[in-house]
Amino acid sequence: MLFVLDPTSPKFMVFEKLNEELLYFLQHSVAGGRFKRSLLSRHAVGQACWDNAKANNAGAKGDLTRDKFHKLFLALKEEAQAVRHQLFVTMQNNQNLNTFFSAPNRSLLSFLSDNSFKALKNLASHLYCSTKDLQGVITAANNKNIGNHFNDFRLINGEVCRACGMEKLAPFRAHVDDEEQWRADYDHQLCKSKYPLYAVHPDNLVPLCRTCNQDAKKAKDLFKCTNGLDRLALNPFTEDAHNFLTVEIENLLDPEPKAILKWNTRNAATLDKLNTWDDVYEIRNRVEGKYISIVNIIQDEINPSNAQELDVGVQSKTRQINANTLKRKEWAFWERKVFSAINAVDKSAFWAQLEFSNEQGEEGGEYIIQGD
Ligand SMILES: [Zn+2]
Repeated sequence: MLFVLDPTSPKFMVFEKLNEELLYFLQHSVAGGRFKRSLLSRHAVGQACWDNAKANNAGAKGDLTRDKFHKLFLALKEEAQAVRHQLFVTMQNNQNLNTFFSAPNRSLLSFLSDNSFKALKNLASHLYCSTKDLQGVITAANNKNIGNHFNDFRLINGEVCRACGMEKLAPFRAHVDDEEQWRADYDHQLCKSKYPLYAVHPDNLVPLCRTCNQDAKKAKDLFKCTNGLDRLALNPFTEDAHNFLTVEIENLLDPEPKAILKWNTRNAATLDKLNTWDDVYEIRNRVEGKYISIVNIIQDEINPSNAQELDVGVQSKTRQINANTLKRKEWAFWERKVFSAINAVDKSAFWAQLEFSNEQGEEGGEYIIQGD
C-alpha cells in the first residue's frame, strides 16, 4: 500500500460470519460419517448456506453453496482423519493476518491432496463470489451488504485507492442513494486461488481501484515471485510505502527529461517489500508513464506565460498536502513528488521547451482554423 489502511476500518460482518462458518464446517468434518445439516452451524448463516442448494432451487445451474460444502466433504473423506484434523487446526491457527505477513507460510495446505485442495478452492470461491450476497446471510450480518460496507470503508479511508494513490475507488454520484452507489472490487491480498483459507477472511479483503485490482494485480502472489522465489509484502494495515519513495529528474539536458521513481532505503526487508508492491501494482510503470513528458505536465498543471510564472507555479506545487486532500484527490501525492523533483533542478531547460512547444501550438492552431 502507498498508505496504510485506517486501523478503524470497518470489518465486513458477512465475511466474518462466512469465515466462522467455514471453520465450523472443517471442525465438524473431522469425524467423517455422512454429509448432514449439523456440519454447518445452527445459526442463520449456517441455515442460509444449507438452504442454498440445487435440491432447493429448481432450475439452478451448477452447484450452490451446500453442494460445494458437500463436494469438499466427500473429497476430505478420501483423506485420513489426521489430515482433516490438520486442515481444521491449520485454519484455526492462522487467523491472524499480521502474523502471516511477518512470517508467511507459503505452503500452508501442502499436506492436502490435489482433489481436496481443489474442492476447498471451489467452495471458498463460491462463498466469496455468491454466498456473500444471499439475503439470509446479509440479514444475519446486521443487514449490511457489501455496498453498505464499501460506503463505510470509503468514509474512513477516503475516495482514493490506498494501494496506488492514483485512482478513485469508484466514482461517487450525487442524487443517488447509498444503496445504489457504485463500489470498487474487493481485492484478496492473499489471492483465493492459492490461499483458499483466506477467501472470506475479513482482514484479507481490501477495496482497491480497478487498475490495481483488475489490470495490475489479478492473481499475483504477494509472497512468491513469478519465478518461484520467496518474497515479502507490505502489511496493508501496518506498513506503507510513501516514506521510502523519491522521484528524480534524469537526463535533464535531453529533449525529453524523465521522472524516475526510486526507493530511498537500504533496509533489505523493506526493499523486498517495496519491490513486491511495485511488481504487484506496477507502481513504477504507472508513475513514470503518467509523467513521461515533464513539459506537458508543466503546461497542463501550470500553463506559465513566462519563466517566473513557471518558477512560482512549480514551487506552489511542492507545498505540503493536506491529509484530507490525499484522501480525496487522485495523483495528489505523486504530483507533489514530481514537482518537488522538478523544483530541485534547473528549470530553464523546461522553459525553453515550453516556449518552443507554445510556438508550435500556435502555428498548429492557425492551421486548424484555416482548414475549417
Ligand atoms: Zn489503485
